[in-house]
Amino acid sequence: MKALALVSGGLDSVLAARLMLEQGIDVEGVSFVSPFFTADAAAESCEELGIGLVVIDVAEALLGVIGAPKHGFGRYVNPCIDCHALMVREAGLRMEELGASFVVTGEVVGQRPKSQMRFGLQAVERESGLDGLLLRPLSAKLLEPTVPEKKGWVDREKLLGLHGRTRKPQMELAERFGIETFASPAGGCLLTDENYARVFRDLRDHGQLSVAGVKMLSVGRQFRLSPAAKLAVGRNHSENEALFRLKSRDELLLKAADHKGPVGVLSGEPEDGDIETAARIVARYADAPRGEPASVLVWNEDTERATIEVVPFAPREARRFAI
Ligand code: SF4
Repeated sequence: MKALALVSGGLDSVLAARLMLEQGIDVEGVSFVSPFFTADAAAESCEELGIGLVVIDVAEALLGVIGAPKHGFGRYVNPCIDCHALMVREAGLRMEELGASFVVTGEVVGQRPKSQMRFGLQAVERESGLDGLLLRPLSAKLLEPTVPEKKGWVDREKLLGLHGRTRKPQMELAERFGIETFASPAGGCLLTDENYARVFRDLRDHGQLSVAGVKMLSVGRQFRLSPAAKLAVGRNHSENEALFRLKSRDELLLKAADHKGPVGVLSGEPEDGDIETAARIVARYADAPRGEPASVLVWNEDTERATIEVVPFAPREARRFAI
């Protein structure tokens, strides 16, 4: 018997997979990547568990969900119930191809507001389409028996009845199993980060959500210049390089011509006034003398480099555009 275990790298997901291994079930890990999280922690955990890992890119699908999540958001812009349902559904779709018979998650009843309350768990199962084939080993004894339990693929008696926010039983279990590698329960998802939520909402509210657009939100300083134009400005060499990598063909790049300074990427549908504002912000963060005109290069992959002369904004003026 084989199960696909959703592994985030957090302790609960690792324990759920481990409980299946303890019952002699073959387990393959499944994890997800998007602009908001990576599968790095999952890869480490699966290595420690000695199981394989399948990584699924859910960037487009998750962006579709975030536009209008059926079950709303958590504290910031994290649509956790919809996101869990999406992940479980994606894993379910791989079951046949990977030779698995059910899906396992590390969800614990009552552990998180909303997403792991009973209605949240029920919604995840219903909307994942995995009717009866979704097993939560850490809380199974508090939930209706699933197909794997009813059919005797797994021994329900050896599953747990964990409930609530306490981490003590999980820590004890980790010690018993000698599990040392696991990510912090809160870390890892940008959608739960207050600062990221602010810039994300700005992009969403201006109708500019795209995979490339949300990737750029986590790099550099972000400025809203007008309803149609947004600017990202690198804060150091590696962010400048990241912006170069992330920009699309038609997005405008800006850089001070005669002074050391950052790269700016102007997105959306900027008008002339937006380009001038962007150039003044980019010049403000370059080593250009205050109050004196500076030359800023403006180009994209389809155009020659143009030079515009601007007076750099004073810091206070530039801050007016910060998101
Ligand atoms: S924290 Fe992020 S990755 Fe986890 S379920 Fe919520 S939205 Fe999805």
